[in-house]
Amino acid sequence: MNIEQLSAVEAVTRIKSREMTSREAVEAVFARIEQVEPQVGAYLSLYKQEALQKADAIDARIAAGEPVGILAGLPIAVKDNICTAFGTTTCGSKMLENFRAPYNAHVIELLEKADAVIIGKTNMDEFAMGSSCENSALKKTANPHDPGKVPGGSSGGSAAVVAANMAFVSLGSDTGGSIRQPASFCGVVGLKPTYGRVSRYGLVAYASSLDQIGPFGRNVADTALLMNAIAGYDDRDSTSINTDLAPNEDYLAKLDEPVDGLKIGVVKQFIASEGLHDDVRRSVDEALARYKKMGAEIVEVDMPSMPYSIATYYMVATAECSSNLTRYDGVHYGYRTPNPKDYIDVYSSSRAEGFGAEVKRRIMLGTYALSAGYYDAYYLKALKVRNLIRQDFEKAFKLCDCIMCPTAPETAFAFGEKTNDPLKMYLSDIYTIAVNLAGIPAISIPCGKGDDGMPIGLQIMSSYFTESKLLRIARMYEKVAQASRL
Ligand code: GLN
Repeated sequence: MNIEQLSAVEAVTRIKSREMTSREAVEAVFARIEQVEPQVGAYLSLYKQEALQKADAIDARIAAGEPVGILAGLPIAVKDNICTAFGTTTCGSKMLENFRAPYNAHVIELLEKADAVIIGKTNMDEFAMGSSCENSALKKTANPHDPGKVPGGSSGGSAAVVAANMAFVSLGSDTGGSIRQPASFCGVVGLKPTYGRVSRYGLVAYASSLDQIGPFGRNVADTALLMNAIAGYDDRDSTSINTDLAPNEDYLAKLDEPVDGLKIGVVKQFIASEGLHDDVRRSVDEALARYKKMGAEIVEVDMPSMPYSIATYYMVATAECSSNLTRYDGVHYGYRTPNPKDYIDVYSSSRAEGFGAEVKRRIMLGTYALSAGYYDAYYLKALKVRNLIRQDFEKAFKLCDCIMCPTAPETAFAFGEKTNDPLKMYLSDIYTIAVNLAGIPAISIPCGKGDDGMPIGLQIMSSYFTESKLLRIARMYEKVAQASRL
């Protein structure tokens, strides 16, 4: 096996035991990048020299017998909406194409503390708005499994680099499915943690009450390892959950322990949803059958508010983004129009030229939903439905340990297939969005291939702060699936 194909857990073990150096890991990953990045196009920036320097420093510390962090020497990629004090943080937007953040996000500080080696920043839909990476103003990213298909979005770059062995693990962000859906499309594991579990300090805001940073890995253990590095309380994020309420756990420690008496909920309203492709339905049914064989019980749960989640999300998310994105005014941050007529024009032309079509659409939608006279009819109503969605989950988790369903209704689609029809694109997230509205954790793991040979994802959701159990449930399937492939 080539170095870049190793699991993250194995790579760190080898680096720490001096069987391999961090430099070798970084060099192997960059050799792979040189080979496949021209076709995939997942990176917006790369930091080879800095990465090699960092790797040498970690190797020297290991050689000297000094203690090192849990990600010692591991090459890792980061979505380009997470602020780094080095290089640019573009958010896939012309608005921030040259923006250099003055500080590191909390998760970047934690990665550095864990001695990870950040090798580059990944492409994304502009300001994390989209499901295919096609909304990036800066680059086109292809699915590593088929160059004619999208990698999913908005964290498509982070999913693609892990799938293509151009990084061992990566970080993405998930507001309505942006970690899980690209994980599903690219055949990797992606975890959206409980809202408040991972600090959002330094994550460029899209919809603050929904945004959450999370890990991608090629397997469940690698994802758990990265979670160990990034989870925890941060007093700079007012929605970060105090560790007294949700103590930090070692997500790797009990990963191989199956969950006894596992009860899996399947949602009546999801099974009935039109638009679910047959091959996806078949794979998910097969996965459920495998859990049953392991002794799990399947219970049907009724979640009457689920059909409203897309509509609710597009009210809440657009309202919040219309407010969050007012800061891009041509003065404080980013792009400024070159020849403004007057000071009003600085604002309007900078925004008109700096933002792409989808971002503008959402700002307009959100501004409308929040405007006097419409606030009660749209925004307030959406908040009420959001509460009902949350209650649906609370009731469901009284009956089962987790809920399983497809991550996305179909496998990765072709470029251009949905770009002219935003509503069609929005339906990509039909199974992922309710999770963000409720704030619970959910994971996507590969569960087979579609009729087109493209990966399919199984989504598993569980109650607040039960990531540890969620990862164990995911691992149960992974083990059986690996064994049947042997
Ligand atoms: N695809 C959804 C959207 O376009 C979710 C994006 C995300 O999770 N960042 O808003």
